[in-house]
Amino acid sequence: MLTYLIILLDDTSVSYCHYEANCKERRLINIDDLKAGIMFAMKENLNVQFVYPDNELPAAYLEAIDSIDHTDIKPIANGNGADVVVLGGWDDEVPEGATCIIHSSFDDLDGHVATINGWLRRMTRLNVVLTDVDKFKDSDIDCYKKTLDALVDGMVELFQQGRSAQLNLLTDRLMLAEMNNCRAGDSNVTLAPNGKFYLCPAFYYEDEKQSLGDLKSGLDIKNPQLLRLDHSPICRQCDAYQCRRCIWMNQRLTMDANTPSHQQCVVAHLERNASRELQLRLDEAGIRLTDSRPIEEMTELDPFNIVNRWK
Ligand code: SF4
Repeated sequence: MLTYLIILLDDTSVSYCHYEANCKERRLINIDDLKAGIMFAMKENLNVQFVYPDNELPAAYLEAIDSIDHTDIKPIANGNGADVVVLGGWDDEVPEGATCIIHSSFDDLDGHVATINGWLRRMTRLNVVLTDVDKFKDSDIDCYKKTLDALVDGMVELFQQGRSAQLNLLTDRLMLAEMNNCRAGDSNVTLAPNGKFYLCPAFYYEDEKQSLGDLKSGLDIKNPQLLRLDHSPICRQCDAYQCRRCIWMNQRLTMDANTPSHQQCVVAHLERNASRELQLRLDEAGIRLTDSRPIEEMTELDPFNIVNRWK
């Protein structure tokens, strides 16, 4: 069921996920399309997430945005009042108590574990969005495992000091009893600055022609069941509940939006297993997180390799 509408306010709106928002030229959504998008969300009873560019918006836009309950996703350069702040880099001064997103390659993440451990003392939550999952190789497994182990050390120290913070790579899986994926095209769709709907911003930036209707003709998703978890034979058996299950990456890497790539599965399982390690270490230290659920030991990193068990 559709629950969220994401509205990209400008072609230069900040990226908050795996895609690259590669437009340099500003193109603000037409004010009438913005108002029609808000009306669409009201009629369909959708929560709205607005995604902002670096620059300030005209007063009429801010007035329209304030006419509906919403979440603001903003770049740090224009981050006042944001619910989610997208950081521009590792040297940014992070806002106290904020929920933030940082884009990083695996290599950069490995080199900034200490930065993240420091940030988590100020933030409520950090989402790390890895930008090169598509290039991840089996020979990178040990290195990413080491990075995650170092992040686990930092989290244990944080909790031992009586503090707490969320880091998507490690803490999301602890609290989940079922899949909690992106669900683009299933629970959410995106309205782009051209007034057309897309499965998610990534499909818009990749090729504007991939639209799913517009505000006048209506939203038209062909065979929506083919995007859902219950139609994904591998994912629906999996317990890496925190995995993004990114349908855009699936489409690029396997040519099917509902079939995961080896890379995505291995990365998600390394994070699942590191979450388990964090859980065990916190248990040992006598620290119990409310709602934390036991995670079973698992050595296989790609569910595709154990597909016979599910037949
Ligand atoms: S780890 Fe793989 S099988 Fe599991 S949810 Fe993610 S993409 Fe699907």
